[in-house]
Amino acid sequence: MSAKKRVFTNRKVNYLPRAVIGILLIIFLYVGYIFIFHKPSLNLETKNVISLNQLVLSIFEKNSLIKNIDIRLVSKDKNFYKLNIDTASGNYRSTELNDKKIKFILDNDEEIISFLKKNDGEKIILKYEISYENLFFNRTLSDEFDLNVDVSPPKIFDIRTDGYVYLGGIGYVMFKTSKDAQNTYLENGNGGIFKSLSIEKDNYIAHLIFFTCSNKPCNQNKIKIISEDTLGNKLQISKKIKTIKNKKWSNIDIFLDKEMIINKYNEIFNSNLNEFTREDFLKLNKEERLINETYINSVTSKISTSKLFDGKFKPLANSKVSSEYSELRTYYFKNDDGLELDRQYHWGIDLSSIKNDKVYSANSGQVVLVEQSLGIYGGVVIIDHGIGFYTLYSHLDTISVNKMDKVDKQTLLGTTGTSGFAFGDHLHFGVFLQGTPVDPIEFLDKKYLGIKIFDPYLKFIGKD
Ligand SMILES: [Zn+2]
Repeated sequence: MSAKKRVFTNRKVNYLPRAVIGILLIIFLYVGYIFIFHKPSLNLETKNVISLNQLVLSIFEKNSLIKNIDIRLVSKDKNFYKLNIDTASGNYRSTELNDKKIKFILDNDEEIISFLKKNDGEKIILKYEISYENLFFNRTLSDEFDLNVDVSPPKIFDIRTDGYVYLGGIGYVMFKTSKDAQNTYLENGNGGIFKSLSIEKDNYIAHLIFFTCSNKPCNQNKIKIISEDTLGNKLQISKKIKTIKNKKWSNIDIFLDKEMIINKYNEIFNSNLNEFTREDFLKLNKEERLINETYINSVTSKISTSKLFDGKFKPLANSKVSSEYSELRTYYFKNDDGLELDRQYHWGIDLSSIKNDKVYSANSGQVVLVEQSLGIYGGVVIIDHGIGFYTLYSHLDTISVNKMDKVDKQTLLGTTGTSGFAFGDHLHFGVFLQGTPVDPIEFLDKKYLGIKIFDPYLKFIGKD
């Protein structure tokens, strides 16, 4: 009985202190929560290898207030380099997951380049210290990561080329790279990029690149060979390439009959204009041409690795060349005030024969494009001949192949016509190397193809 009484008396006095303890506990937990979770964090986003190309970190502010970030790369012999957070790209003041990465570009600072080169192949440490404030307390967070330094680009060696191209012609360069080469290509300085054909060997990778400088000499008579590893370490070597100006293309003036061109315009755009202006002509000859050429470039830019063609190209039997590659055409309206409307290069050759003549594939390959009416090009077939070479047949009246068909010199592609922006019946024949139009005339010449394509290719695959 006495025990029961004691319990009763104890209960009386404990309400208030318990409530206070409860509130204090909640405050304590809340403060503790903020103290533990409202603090920045720093993660390494790239693998633990550092190259000149980049170092990507993510830093979250997470409801704290970052005051200062000190990030240092420290070498084995205790030399260090301080990364400048202000020049890094990206925003570290972020709590968002999708906006968190900051990227340090390292290859524009001599000091870091020499630091990393000195430590190439070694281990270094990335140390960081973040000063921040939460709940009015100043605090710091620090840690470190081990990093391996790799600033060595692939090696390029044994470069072989005959050192020249003809205007509008094909050039080649053969070379080897170390096995770490992941992306190897050539720039002609005129905007053209040409990928390499590669064969993996035991100790190196063999490369062959066919290129063209288009209808002008390579920029500064040079090409650049570029090889990158997976980290983006990049080596670039320039090579002199002489352009032999063995031909002179003509400039011609074309005087357009408005009546005839209105009909063409209406046919191509499926419209019914009665009046024709300079703007209408530019819509056809400039805008539509550019759209068509961009599309053709995208279709002919890919490089399939097996060579499907052999011998010279035969685009249209018993025909004569009525317009050459790179002919510069200036357009005017007939019976007008002599105002120049537009200027365009002709990126193929025109071959004239009889009306609706049979068009056979110029060489073996695979059909990659069939269009019944592709703007100014009209009925078009494009054939992929492998290793980056393509032929185009345009203004076709009828087409008798389908996309993906395998073709050879006996395969009928269709018949010549006047579809697209053409007046007299003819075949427009184009040759492309990785998207860039080259002079088709050279492809009708067996000797030229031997010197510029077949011999280097046989040497490359080891069958010469
Ligand atoms: Zn043409």
